[in-house]
Amino acid sequence: MAGNTQPAEQLDERYRVAGATAEQQQAVDVLTRQFLLTDERLGAIIKEFRRRMEVGLAADSTMLKMVLSHVVWRPTGQETGSYFAIDLGGTNLRVLRVTLDGKGGATSVHQKFVLPEEAKKRTLFDFIAQCVETFLDDHNMRPAASEPPLSIGFTFSYPIDQKSINSGTLIHWTKGLSVPGCIGRDVVRLLEDALLRLGLRVKVAAVVSDTVSTLLAAAYSDPAAQMGVIFGTGTNAAYYEDVASIAKWKGADPASGEMVVSIEWGAFDSEEFAILPFTPHDIKLDRKSLNPRGQAYEKMISGMYLGEIARNIMLWLADQRLLLDGRSSAILNAMWSLDTSYLSSAAVDNTPDLAEIRQIIEKTLDVPGSTLVDRRIFKTIAILVGERAARLSAVGLVATLTKRPDLLSKPITVAIDGSMYEHYPGFACIMAETASHFIPEGQFKNIRFSPTKDGSGVGAAVIAMLATQQQQQ
Ligand code: ADP
Ligand code: MG
Repeated sequence: MAGNTQPAEQLDERYRVAGATAEQQQAVDVLTRQFLLTDERLGAIIKEFRRRMEVGLAADSTMLKMVLSHVVWRPTGQETGSYFAIDLGGTNLRVLRVTLDGKGGATSVHQKFVLPEEAKKRTLFDFIAQCVETFLDDHNMRPAASEPPLSIGFTFSYPIDQKSINSGTLIHWTKGLSVPGCIGRDVVRLLEDALLRLGLRVKVAAVVSDTVSTLLAAAYSDPAAQMGVIFGTGTNAAYYEDVASIAKWKGADPASGEMVVSIEWGAFDSEEFAILPFTPHDIKLDRKSLNPRGQAYEKMISGMYLGEIARNIMLWLADQRLLLDGRSSAILNAMWSLDTSYLSSAAVDNTPDLAEIRQIIEKTLDVPGSTLVDRRIFKTIAILVGERAARLSAVGLVATLTKRPDLLSKPITVAIDGSMYEHYPGFACIMAETASHFIPEGQFKNIRFSPTKDGSGVGAAVIAMLATQQQQQ
């Protein structure tokens, strides 16, 4: 297994656990060596990531799918009108009606639904259709039979093979979904059919990934927007690519000369496990996941997985009687019982007796009687797992940004969304700081990282509008 090479004596003082026994500290040092990544190591991963991007632009069915979104336009910010949108992430579903004000601004009416397990396993499209119906009825927006069908932008954040802007066949599920009968089928048809079963006539004008819609939401107000990135349940990014660089594009060249490409970067190093810094805790998670050996990069970075990595580490320590005196609980023993949001809370618990962490261990995980050292170790785990995620996230970012150095000679905006980015303490800073080690200073200062909260809803509406405009020409 690929290990990290940082010698023990150089380990950061932050990972010394006050009051720990020699055995406990030794175990924490093992973790520290596994989870801290040197710049040298990251540099090698960036190089491989870039190579994989090139392979994905040349041919179909590669590790990085480089999905061609068919989005070949940029909004001017002057577009107006109201459009509906559906934003399906991995945890939440939002239905919106977005009104574009023609000055780069947008207002929306929206409703948020949490995806139930039943929908993730079986009833997804019917569940989405019911949510759309609820939204339309609650807001008195259901169109009359005499009216034309509603036009809607659909943010669908799973890898699809797109032959047009409003169709896409599902390649495989990610992020814990496993709805049968969908792989190889057009997700737009599946959605339209489910809506029709409820008597709702809806025309999906565009289907896009959340990265593409986040990018377009930013582009509506900012002509410098070049890249959209998600760190939510999963992780992925999209960027404007020069069509001349997309060897696998066989269609007519668009007038703009560019197309948004969704990298599907969560799959980096999948199947091969050749270069990412796998630890036994990652491997354990992977084996028990719904998609073993898939989404390798995503499993080290995104919200769905980090809590589970931390839980595996806790059990590894407890089994050696180095944590919680060897005790566990039914909750701590159960997969996925530690939500990543608890790592965020733990990483910033600065109370003298780590009261927040006590709450997590003793109440949420139901293991009473934690010592202060147990809680300090828990905090160290949260920091190690979160910081590795932030540093690894810089890999994809740097590989993509340096792919088009022409863009870095002037101001460029990277639109970013997702709960992990928004809430994990220091994630944004560590990611940017790490990226700055790999991009020349003169270019790095041109990059603006722009939090684009809920951009994937607004962006879907912007794209629905651009696609409709295109069809009308
Ligand atoms: P979606 O992926 O559906 O668009 P989000 O961007 O909100 O949704 O991401 C949800 C993921 O983020 C879940 O996996 C959840 O565990 C994680 N998450 C939620 N709150 C936090 C937090 N405070 N810190 C870190 N991760 C979080
Ligand atoms: Mg989202």
